[in-house]
Amino acid sequence: MHVGPVTIDVDVLKEGLRGDVGFTSREFVEAFQYSLKAMRRLFNAKPNDQPFIIPGGGTSAMESVTSLLRKGDKVLVVSNGVFGDRWEAILSRYPVTVKVLRAEPGDYVSPDIIEEELKREKYTAVTMTHVETSTGIREPIYEVAKRVRSLVDLIVVDGVSSVSAEETKLENIDVFLTASQKALGTPPGAGLLMLSENAVNRLSDDSVAGYYLNLKNWLPVMRSMEEGKGSYFATPPVHLILMLAKSFQLIEKEGLENRVKRHARISQAIRAGIEGMGLSIVAKRPEAYSNTVTGVLVKKVNPAQVLQEMNNSGIELAPGVHPALAGKYFRIGHMGWVNENDAIATIATLERVLYKLGEPVKLGEGLKATQLQLA
Ligand SMILES: *Cc1c(COP(=O)(O)O)cnc(C)c1O
Repeated sequence: MHVGPVTIDVDVLKEGLRGDVGFTSREFVEAFQYSLKAMRRLFNAKPNDQPFIIPGGGTSAMESVTSLLRKGDKVLVVSNGVFGDRWEAILSRYPVTVKVLRAEPGDYVSPDIIEEELKREKYTAVTMTHVETSTGIREPIYEVAKRVRSLVDLIVVDGVSSVSAEETKLENIDVFLTASQKALGTPPGAGLLMLSENAVNRLSDDSVAGYYLNLKNWLPVMRSMEEGKGSYFATPPVHLILMLAKSFQLIEKEGLENRVKRHARISQAIRAGIEGMGLSIVAKRPEAYSNTVTGVLVKKVNPAQVLQEMNNSGIELAPGVHPALAGKYFRIGHMGWVNENDAIATIATLERVLYKLGEPVKLGEGLKATQLQLA
């Protein structure tokens, strides 16, 4: 029950057990081709939109967005936590101007505030984080994108812990990026980006990007791979892409709609359990809840000790990482192939662990609430 890397299906892992996989081998090119086409279907992309799979992960995908920026461009960063702030950390390494709109921990920057700022001043790009993994907050990205579409050239969404577990579509968005190891349920090693035609047209030699993460250098490889022809710019994570193709197969077998519904159902069951045992969630209001991550506030015990005891009982949770809430919370990840039994085991074990450590919880009440939610 971590926030990533998440638990990986054995069928996915098995795809990586190959001794001879070159970057022009038929099986690798087919896996790459399949993954790119699956991305198009997942995002409901138009023919001139362009999928990319690059080495690294969420952060390399984020940094590669500099391929769309030129010297002096202004970027508005909408930050609901640690990963929102990462945009500022990355972009401040480049000759662009950054302004940050920051939410209180546990909340998101409202669409009104974002729209107001984009009306007040001209920006080249705005970045948002679909699910802020540090706190489990979901930004209403589709509403924002619709409202600001005509005000800004590029709308960029970090969907690292949302893609395939929350509503996923490129509608009104120019860059939707993710990583292999979160809701997609593959080992870490790849960053994935879906670019709109508008974004593809901005790839040029005068961007501020460097060499390795410059999407203009990766574009010919993506086009060639999608046509089923091997091509080289820099070595791709070949085994990872074999596994990624399998993940996409499993995702398509479940279907995006079913997958989003399953994540919603499991997340509701977990939140019901947390509240049932008498604890609070970091997200301040239901509109901010996410399908993939729940931040849990504790009153008395040390969250690090809770994680240690949970680990001893066979369930791995994630620490709280938002500096403003340091020592006050931990996180439950519920993405990938999570099921009802995972929700029940997590809540039952958690309330027992908390009870033993002296947190004032109502033993049995969390599990009851989860059961009622799932019944
Ligand atoms: C995990 C995460 C990242 C960073 O991804 P890495 O693969 O660790 O580089 C960025 N944004 C969000 C929302 C994340 O959850």
